Parts: sequence; C-alpha cells; structure tokens
Amino acid sequence: MKYPISVTLTDRPAKKPEDESRLGFGRIFTDHMFLMDYSRKEGWQNGRIVPFGPLPIHPASTVLHYGAEIFEGLKAYRRADGGIQLFRPMENIRRMNNSARRMCLPTLDEEGALDILVRLLEIEKDWVPHQMGTSLYIRPYIFGNDPHLGVHAVDHAVFCIILSPVGAYYAEGINPVRIAIETRDVRAVRGGTGEAKCGGNYAASLRAGEIAEENGFTQVLWLDGVERKYIEEVGSMNVMFKIGGVIVTPKLTGSVLPGITRKSCIQLLRDWGYEVEERLLSAEELLNAAKDGTLEEAWGTGTAAVVSPIGELYMDGQDYTVCENRIGPVTQRLYDALTGIQWGTAPDPHDWVMKL
Ligand SMILES: *Cc1c(COP(=O)(O)O)cnc(C)c1O
Repeated sequence: MKYPISVTLTDRPAKKPEDESRLGFGRIFTDHMFLMDYSRKEGWQNGRIVPFGPLPIHPASTVLHYGAEIFEGLKAYRRADGGIQLFRPMENIRRMNNSARRMCLPTLDEEGALDILVRLLEIEKDWVPHQMGTSLYIRPYIFGNDPHLGVHAVDHAVFCIILSPVGAYYAEGINPVRIAIETRDVRAVRGGTGEAKCGGNYAASLRAGEIAEENGFTQVLWLDGVERKYIEEVGSMNVMFKIGGVIVTPKLTGSVLPGITRKSCIQLLRDWGYEVEERLLSAEELLNAAKDGTLEEAWGTGTAAVVSPIGELYMDGQDYTVCENRIGPVTQRLYDALTGIQWGTAPDPHDWVMKL
C-alpha cells in the first residue's frame, strides 16, 4: 500500500557542503524532509515532502512530557558508478514498527514506508556525498502528539524523516576504543524498553556515558539490569567477542537492541565457518578470558561505525587490554566485507543491498 504524498520544493536550496572530509555526524541537514500525521480516527494522512524546517509543537504535546518517541537510523551509500543504494532498509522499517508497538505508537505499512523513503531520497539524491566512507544518514522517527496532558496511548502522532550527510566514521583510520563496564546505572531491563529503539533509552543512558567520557572512555558497556552480571551492549552498538576461537555475542533477551549490523555480522561469520554463540556472557567470564589470554578480539557493531574494535576493557579499577589494542583480523574482515557490500565494491551474496 502506498501513501499519497504531496511535494513542496524549497525555493531556497542550500549549498551542498564542499569539504566532505568535515561533515561530522548529524549537524547538516538536506533541503527537504518528510512529514505525515496520524489520528486514531483517520489513520495516516497528509503525507508531504516539504522544505526542511522547525516543527510547530503544542506545549502539552505527549512527546515533550512522556517521551513517546521511537526512531530508526540507516544510510544511503554512493557507489563508484554514481548510483545510490540502501542496506537492508526493510529491516529498519520492521524494527521501527516493533518499536512503535512497544511504545503504543502507530505502525506504518512496510511497503508504504519504503516507498516514502525512496521518494524522499529521489528528491535529495544530490545530497548523498561522494567521498569514500561518507554517506547520507537517514533518521525516520515517530512521536506522540496529543495536545493534552492525560497519560494515555496517543490519538495523534507524527512520522518524520530527516536526512543528514555524514562523514567517514574513521577519518583517521580505525582506532580501537576504551570501554568501561558500567556497574552503577543500567540501560534496560527485560520487560522494559531495551529492545525498542526509543529516545527514552538514550536519555537514561547519558549520565553513565558522561562520567565514562570524563574518565577517558569512549562509551560504557552495559550489564543486564536484573542481576547486573551479564554483558548486554555498548552505547549505540551491539557487542561481540572472539573467545578461544568462538564468536560470542549476548543473546537477545528483550533488553538488548536487535541490531541489523549484529544480525548481518552473525550471518557473515557463519558463512565463513565460524561458530557463533548467542548466549548469556557474564562480565566475570569475559574478564577471565581477557586475563588468561583466550579473549582474542572484541568489537561493537552498529550502523554508524559498522564495526568498532575494542582495545581496552575497564571494570572496578582494573584495565584489560584486548588484542594488543589493535584491530583484530576477524574485526577487520567484517569491516571490509560489510563496507564493501554497503558501498557496492564487493559482492552481495545475501541480496542485502537495494539499489535506488
Ligand atoms: C541502533 C542501535 C544499535 C545498532 O543497531 P544497528 O541496526 O546495527 O544500527 C545498537 N544498540 C542500540 C541501543 C541502538 O540504538
């Protein structure tokens, strides 16, 4: 099912950034955005591509008071032949609907949502940067927008897509990161909202992240919220370890975000003959493996960085170096394989790419 869309083009298009090596992340936005309104009575209506600009929001709007918001993050990549492609976009749309269901926000027809995205990208295609490693970051989101303060599943919501040209994540080469295992705050609990991609999860995670940064760490590694024993994920990335030749990654217990990069890495690793275990992994087991030398590699996985090698783990006053603080061979191979598929320089054996 396709949603009807009206298009209003800007009469003041912005100049595209000239220096693509200085795009950064999420600071520059394209000329247009997509908006669509939802009401319980009439469903989704008034889909429109309009000039990028502020949203008028009622001061009592649900999103401002009760955090009714979910989002997605994916990228459009420019191939060497000039064409543009997406990586597994339907996975993002399905996950967005799952997040929406958890937060009592309205879902979208999957094919309809993909059609919206493609139409917006067709208008903004010149904004997809060209330099190797750069991309156009796509941020779809849905928020509750009832103009009153009652605490209730919303009758009104807005679906919005904004686009931002972003720089190469590793402009200065892939450097392993220092990660602190968080022992005070928790990100999510089973039955909570950990498996939904919602803004509230991030709001609650900031304190630990700020303190870790002050202490020289890039991000925190979360433990499960109930026993505070098992490894869950890192900031905005899932996490994987190579322990004694086997790949171990926390299983999706309900409090871990089901990453699309995670899922793709598991598939590639299995293709290559690795044993991949999705299971509970305690911090104790992990740090013991680091001590006795069986922890060979550690890395995070997510759309922004693709894979991010972890060179150091910290917990309770102790530092543990991983893989001599260098990128390991499996991490590098995953990075090369995934970026090759995403930018169209390598074969795509699982048909993950959608050409525009
Ligand atoms: C988005 C996200 C990830 C990574 O998911 P990808 O689909 O691989 O980008 C991991 N953890 C959290 C908390 C996230 O929000």
